[in-house]
Amino acid sequence: MPVKPPKIIARFAPSPTGFLHVGSLRTALYNYIFAKKNNGLFYLRVEDTDQSRKVEGAKENLLKILAFFNLNWDNKPIMIQSERLDLYKKYAQQLIDENKAYYCFCSEERLGESKAIRQRQKLPTGYDGQCRNLSAEEIKNNLGAGRSYVIRFKMPKTGLTEFIDLIRGQVSFDNKILDDQIILKSNGWPTYHLASVIDDHEMEISHVIRGEDWLPSTPKHILLYQAFGWEPPIFAHLPLLLNPDHSKLSKRQGDVAVEDFLKNGYLPEALLNFILLLGWNPGTNQEIFDLQSMIEAFSLEKINKAGAVFDLNKLDWLNGEYIRKKSAEELAKLCQPYYAEAGLKTDLKNLKAIVATEQSRIKKLSEIVSATEFFFKAPDYDPQLLIWKKLNAKETAKNLAALAEELEKIKEKEWTEKFIEAEIKKFIEGNKQGMGDYLWPMRAALSGRKASPGPFEIAGVLGREETLKRLEKAIEILK
Ligand code: GLU
Repeated sequence: MPVKPPKIIARFAPSPTGFLHVGSLRTALYNYIFAKKNNGLFYLRVEDTDQSRKVEGAKENLLKILAFFNLNWDNKPIMIQSERLDLYKKYAQQLIDENKAYYCFCSEERLGESKAIRQRQKLPTGYDGQCRNLSAEEIKNNLGAGRSYVIRFKMPKTGLTEFIDLIRGQVSFDNKILDDQIILKSNGWPTYHLASVIDDHEMEISHVIRGEDWLPSTPKHILLYQAFGWEPPIFAHLPLLLNPDHSKLSKRQGDVAVEDFLKNGYLPEALLNFILLLGWNPGTNQEIFDLQSMIEAFSLEKINKAGAVFDLNKLDWLNGEYIRKKSAEELAKLCQPYYAEAGLKTDLKNLKAIVATEQSRIKKLSEIVSATEFFFKAPDYDPQLLIWKKLNAKETAKNLAALAEELEKIKEKEWTEKFIEAEIKKFIEGNKQGMGDYLWPMRAALSGRKASPGPFEIAGVLGREETLKRLEKAIEILK
């Protein structure tokens, strides 16, 4: 009988901090698409055992944002570590009973002093092992006296801990550099290491895919698996995210929070596409991926070891590509909140035409308001702006007046960009004048800007009445 291959189960295990770091979004995405690619499962676990970092509503925010990106998890309900404290205690006790962990009664002061001394002696500053070999008697007395303690894992002092990382290959750590890490804190809560190993085991996680910053923790985890007699999962550590100058990606929340990218007008599908390409590439020229095509193309083997540069220009480019793909209606709806924030009232029908004038140009939704403001209120501008090349003010005013006269002939129901363009071009050609002599001042009068969509497009959207009004005003200020 053929052997059934083991089930692939990946997981995303964030500590809820109140916002989602772009690096964490990448971890979530890679785990999700890796699982789906392999007909496996994607689990979510909330690692909330650090009570000092607790933020109200952080967990809800996390679930909401993952769902927003369609990174839907398969374990329902999700695993929440703060609900499993008894279990971690039980396992810590098991390690004590088997002499693989020990009570440590050292006070904060003693630890601080001993660290300072070793720092001065240029020795490794990890725990000095004072409580590693307490007698049963001493332990009993300390516990009896109600002294506060933590539980530490007894690291082997010799040998190597080795494993194969799917991205980095063979990795090897010298056990003597490993600290007797705390696995249970004095408040009875587990540390990340203990909880993570127990949960990955209990959830039957087959692959742990996480950021490179967790690589130094991995030997500790492997030794814990060994201590429990469990088989460790397969590990894959993702390359660091770097600023363009190759320093580690800034940790300032405003620069890395996924929520802020969305607020600033990046589309979720563009952001996800961008993040996919941070450290992975398909080996082809394809750059645009939706979630389904990501799943089809993805493989852990194509992830780079080298850090991935977070290039905002590329994100802008991708976002622009996705903006172009929207229908005018979709784009208008997406832009509406930005107008509302700027205090501009919009109705969808009109807004569709307005946003369409900038759809081929904007890179972020947030740019839409300043790019199209002049549709909402007649612009103020320097009269000099109306003047094209060698024309003077008088000639410009004359041309604008002639244009206004032509435009007046166009009836309300014929007022479309195409029709206006055909009529006005016919008129200018008939006059044997340069196009710029008319179209520059017309465009400037309608938009109040050096650069904007073309005059016919603007006129079409502004409507007959407002177009004529703006031309009148321009003629007026030229006097
Ligand atoms: N809670 C850890 C984090 O916030 C998870 C690390 C891991 O995936 O093991 O990144």
